Amino acid sequence: MPREHDVHAPVSEPAGFPRGDELPAIVRRVETVCPYCGVGCGLVLNLSARGEIVQVDDVPYHPSSEGMLCVKGRFGVGFVHSPQRLTTPLLRRRRGEPLEPVSWDVALDYVADQLVRYRDAFAAIGTAKATNEDGYVLQKFARAVMGTNNVDHCARLCHSPSVAAMMEMLGSGSATNSYADFEQAGCLMVVGADPDSNHPVIAARLRTGIERGARLVVVNPKYIRLCDLADVWLCPRPGTDVALFNGLAWIALQEGLWDEAFVRTHTTGFDLWRAHLTPYTPVNVARVTGVPEEALRAAARLFARPARGGSCLIWGMGITQHTRGTANVQALVNFALLTGQLGKPGSGLAPLRGQNNVQGCSDMGVLPDHLPGYQGLGPEARAKFEQAWGCSLPAEPGLPLTEMMEAAARGELKAIYLCGENPILTEPNAAHVREGLSRLECLVVQNILPNETMELAHVVLPAASFAEKDGTFTNSERRVQRVRQALVPPGQARPDWEITCDLARRVAQRLGRPAHGFHYTHPAEIFAEIAALVPFLAGISYTRLEAGGIQWPCPTPDHPGTPRLFTAGFPDRRARFQPVDQGLPAAELPDRDYPLLLNTGRVLYHWHGGDLSRQVTGLTALYPAVEVAIHPADAAAHGVADGDRVRLTSRRGELLATARVTEAVQQGELFVPFVRLAEGAANFLTNNVYDPRVKIPEYKVCAVRLARA
Ligand code: SF4
Repeated sequence: MPREHDVHAPVSEPAGFPRGDELPAIVRRVETVCPYCGVGCGLVLNLSARGEIVQVDDVPYHPSSEGMLCVKGRFGVGFVHSPQRLTTPLLRRRRGEPLEPVSWDVALDYVADQLVRYRDAFAAIGTAKATNEDGYVLQKFARAVMGTNNVDHCARLCHSPSVAAMMEMLGSGSATNSYADFEQAGCLMVVGADPDSNHPVIAARLRTGIERGARLVVVNPKYIRLCDLADVWLCPRPGTDVALFNGLAWIALQEGLWDEAFVRTHTTGFDLWRAHLTPYTPVNVARVTGVPEEALRAAARLFARPARGGSCLIWGMGITQHTRGTANVQALVNFALLTGQLGKPGSGLAPLRGQNNVQGCSDMGVLPDHLPGYQGLGPEARAKFEQAWGCSLPAEPGLPLTEMMEAAARGELKAIYLCGENPILTEPNAAHVREGLSRLECLVVQNILPNETMELAHVVLPAASFAEKDGTFTNSERRVQRVRQALVPPGQARPDWEITCDLARRVAQRLGRPAHGFHYTHPAEIFAEIAALVPFLAGISYTRLEAGGIQWPCPTPDHPGTPRLFTAGFPDRRARFQPVDQGLPAAELPDRDYPLLLNTGRVLYHWHGGDLSRQVTGLTALYPAVEVAIHPADAAAHGVADGDRVRLTSRRGELLATARVTEAVQQGELFVPFVRLAEGAANFLTNNVYDPRVKIPEYKVCAVRLARA
């Protein structure tokens, strides 16, 4: 099926990119992938003769999106035409002076000189917005040229606990099923996620499953739209998820709902784990979580014994963004193993990935402790990559993203190559992050648009957007899909992979190292190298992807891809139960000075911090100001009415927002989205404390006080 072709007839539908009364004629259509979230919807960019995106269409029969797009995919890609796009390299020669336009040679030579100087105190930060090829080249540069594993990306901030727990317990850190399983399931348990806001096409597919007979259990401290359809809504106190899932497992065992054959055949560690569950009786769990015993029992029964097919466990950042994030995911996986809800149609574990290519960026090894394909840093894996890349590789794990920020604040990092991210908005405790980054001797910001972090940059490198380059993204169901160039990058902007290769050659030359691994002429060559080194991608090529996306593992060129993992059990070993205890709900809880609990998340009309979506007039018009959800009792206690301007203050900063009085949040709890609009952002308030295992911040719980502004 051709993916790019001429279209001579103009279309009559409204554009979503209003630029006057006349809709320009569409002359070309390019099929690609949505740049917003990890659902990975197929979309078609309709282009005018002047090279503008006139309209976005869905892709009928697309296996992930089935012809659907949400508001961001259909109307939100206008950011590529933003007048604010970065179009030329910029250099700040001295502190306090402005950034000034320079040539690529001047910018990259300056950066290369600085990186050589600070190569023992260097880190690279990638972005899950970029392609697999961009990510692969970035981590290769960090490891093979700079000699460090200090390379990471924003998966650290969303699903690093899911990856760690699932890798340890199952041997794979990705979703075990496909979206199609949601439509075949007998029970859908949606935990700490709000798909209608964050992954709307998934929400639609969940509704299809419900229409076909699936029962729905929602686990969320906030009332979300899916609660309207839920058979059971469990509303636990924030930070009590381990107790909740240990309690569900206790009930499944006590009521004989568990899958003994599955447990005996496919798992290890059951007896030890079972002994650990003793205290998690329904009475105790109800007391800790606030969830009534009968609701716990109803949820356990629905999930463990679905009326048809299997049960899917679907979760989001409400589980992971805690100091106990890894423990939370371990408790979920234990419950799925106990009930045998893996590997069969309509079952499986599905962490809903955030950014469009967060799965792929992890697959590419943009991680401080894994080479591409999760191949670790052991001697065997290093030897394989050393031979392929013609260099020696560092063995010591590098710094995770959140520790890079702390190391910068301590003055231990001197140079950061920051591709596509905006840590001042996305890391917790924004003031602390700003202070740390401002101590760097060399901050290189490579991006498509200006952002808050760029204000501290020494060098800015203009990058091409998703619509201006070729490559691949991998979505939440492990589907590798082609991203196709539809437009010429503006000004001097270049694809990330090309910039990184150019920089790598210059640094390698200064260090007297070979740079032969950085002379690619097209991303297809990069992907071929990836496929040669990563066994689960070995059967995928650009040629095959022309016929549509392929779900990994795909080990050989004639392999069709793998929609569902573990259909024949666990190939290399048994799955492991992992005993896990509740512990403290959070590092910071409400007290007399900061009496309310703040929860954070996303909204439908923006993506996360809003770097892209706030460039789109239509989206910002739909959600123009940061809103804080307040329970009516708390609003009354603080003299706040719906629509009032309010000030939230934590121990780390403050935020002005518009009050939205609603019973969607519980009394004593507030909710603010991450997006930064005029008023500031949630991360001025959040707490820079971390899960000890994977270093994810505790975005979901901190203590604040509320006052009318
Ligand atoms: Fe894009 Fe996600 Fe919306 Fe699909 S659901 S159109 S991938 S933002």
